[in-house]
Order: sequence, then structure tokens, then C-alpha cells
Amino acid sequence: MKREPHVLVVGIDGVRYDSLLSAATPAVDCIARGGFLLPVTVHPRNVTISGPVWATVATGVYADRHKVTGNSVHPPELADFQDFTAVLRASRPGSRTMIAASWLPVAAPTACGPLFSSRGWVPDKDPEEANDGGSWASADDAVARYAAGRLEKEDISASFVYFGQADVEAHNNGTGSGYVLAIQNCDMRLMTLLEAIKARPNRRNEVWTIIVVTDHGHLDAGGHGGWSEEERTAWIAACGASVPEDVKAVDHADIFTQVLAAFGVTAGAAGGVPFGARCAGPEQLAPEQLAPEPPARSPVPGTPAPGTAEELPTRGAAPGTAEELPTRGAAPGTAEELPTRSAAPGTAEELPTRSAAPGTAEELPTRGAAPEPPARTAALR
Ligand SMILES: [Zn+2]
Repeated sequence: MKREPHVLVVGIDGVRYDSLLSAATPAVDCIARGGFLLPVTVHPRNVTISGPVWATVATGVYADRHKVTGNSVHPPELADFQDFTAVLRASRPGSRTMIAASWLPVAAPTACGPLFSSRGWVPDKDPEEANDGGSWASADDAVARYAAGRLEKEDISASFVYFGQADVEAHNNGTGSGYVLAIQNCDMRLMTLLEAIKARPNRRNEVWTIIVVTDHGHLDAGGHGGWSEEERTAWIAACGASVPEDVKAVDHADIFTQVLAAFGVTAGAAGGVPFGARCAGPEQLAPEQLAPEPPARSPVPGTPAPGTAEELPTRGAAPGTAEELPTRGAAPGTAEELPTRSAAPGTAEELPTRSAAPGTAEELPTRGAAPEPPARTAALR
């Protein structure tokens, strides 16, 4: 009997690669051991701002095509590019998908959003209103609870779950110890998701691919949007049955292609390639992508996904509860292990705790590329 593929993509906003390496992140570590953790240089076609990069993660194309250049404006061109969950539902009718995010534009029609055309679940209270550490920690915790509850109980083929506390902490207080704590809190939320997956009753008949990604780094004092090494160095970690061994280099646009490849679906006009297909190079870019300037192709519908069901953003839907985390995509037929919370590699597990570590930070808004009306999201994520 064929084991059913499932993919979870987790986005953690604004986590510097060097800060990630200095933090205690057992969940990311477990994924890295089962697959890879690689630095990713934000593509020259994107600026180091949340909106453009998350739009690339969602659609597999860069700002020259999706036209998201900041956090404030939702360009009409973005409608030409369905997110990977929408493409999957169109290709495999009946597939269930999930989007959950603490930053509303990821999943709701506000500011530059929805960046994911399917839309999804967002917290009742927008953490950008207070924009302090506590608000973002609470929002991220709510996202983790909601997503973990569904991942454990429902058969969701592909998901995107977003956490934003670390980015706000850096914006508010720089990349010091509070930032490291915020990164660790996000890792605990990731672990919650992995443990939820691990607890699935039919887990042994499923194959999971877990992908974790950040969109950009931060300057030491906090802030991004420029092209310094600290800002443009992001990272991706992944493990699972669909992830080949010895992956040398990856790009944000590859996630879209990889998720669909896990289901045997061809990505179409996307700009990325499946994991393992990209050669490591000076810029970690494929030759075609090294072109100085975008060929300005006309927007090709990333994936016409007519007739698919969308998930409407529900604010604070019923917190389903439970939690868990993904596991490394073990080879078919083997028992997989999911990352556990215990720091020591290769050791036992601990129970997921859904509350984030106390004493943590916050996130800040990011720069709105262009001044905009709904002043609400002018922040610089
Ligand atoms: Zn960001």
C-alpha cells in the first residue's frame, strides 16, 4: 500500500542564520540531521522584506513576476500565482490543506496579503497592533495550537504555518539575547507541530516532508531591507522522504516546486527547482537565475487552479488543541522519528509544551516599502 505523502512548511520570520546556529533549537536540529540546513541568499529579484520573500515561498516566483515589493500593497499581478496549497488542491481534488499565520498578510486580505491565495487562519487579535513581544508570542502560540490540533487530527496534505516573534524582537531590541530566546520559542512551536504529526494515529502509513524557512536576516541593531550579508542571508532546513540526500544549495522559490514534487505534481511556470537540482555556486543560483536583470516575463499563471476550494481566513477559529511536530522523512517502510524537544541529539523525547518560554520578546513591524493608506501594516517586517 502506497504511503500517502504529506508536507508541512513552517515559516519563521527574520531569523539570522548565525543567530539560529547560536540558539538552542532541537526541532530545527532534528530536521537538519534528517536532511539539511543550508544558508540561502535572498534572490536579487527580491528585497529583504517579508512580503516579497513570503510571496516567493508561496508561489515559486520572484518580485519581478508576483510584484510584491513591500509589505503594504497587494499587487493585482499576485492573483496570477496560486500558492502551493491551491495548486495541490487543483491537481489533486479532495486534498485538504491548511494555512495558519500570526502575521495577517500571509493569510488574510490586508496590506500586501493574502500572500497565500488560499488564505487561512489568523489570530483573533492582530499582534501588529501592539507590536510588542508579548502580543507576538501570544499570537504565535495560538497559531501553534491551532495548527498542531489540525495536524494531529485531520488528514491535511500540505500546510504552511508562520511564526513572527523573532522578527519583532530583532526590530524592537536588536539581535541580542532576547532575539535568541525568541528564536528558541519559535523552535519550540515548531517542535509542537512535529510532535502533533508524530502522534497521528495513521502515522506509519504516511510519509512526511518537513520544510522550515526564514525570509531574511537582520542587522545587529535590528532591521532589514538592505543588502548586507546579515540581511540577505536566510536559510532553509528540510527532511523527509521527498528530500534527496546531499542537497547542495536551495532557494526560496524551490519550496513551491519541492512541495508539489512530493505529490508528483509538476510546478509549471515557477522559478524554482526541486531540492537537489540546484548546484552550489557563488550565488547559489541556477545559471538562468544569475541574469542581472529579470527578463521581465509576462506573468504566467503559476497554476490555474480553477474550481478549488479555498480556505477562508477564520479569525481565531476553534482552537483545536493538541500539538506535535514533524519527523524526518524516513525511508518508506521504516519507522520515522520526529524531532523531539530534548536538546541532546539522538535522545529521548519530551512532551511538547505549548506555551512559549516566558521572558521573551517581540516582533516589530517592518518597513512598508511604499507609504500606504492602511497605515496598519506599514511596519517593517
Ligand atoms: Zn520578514
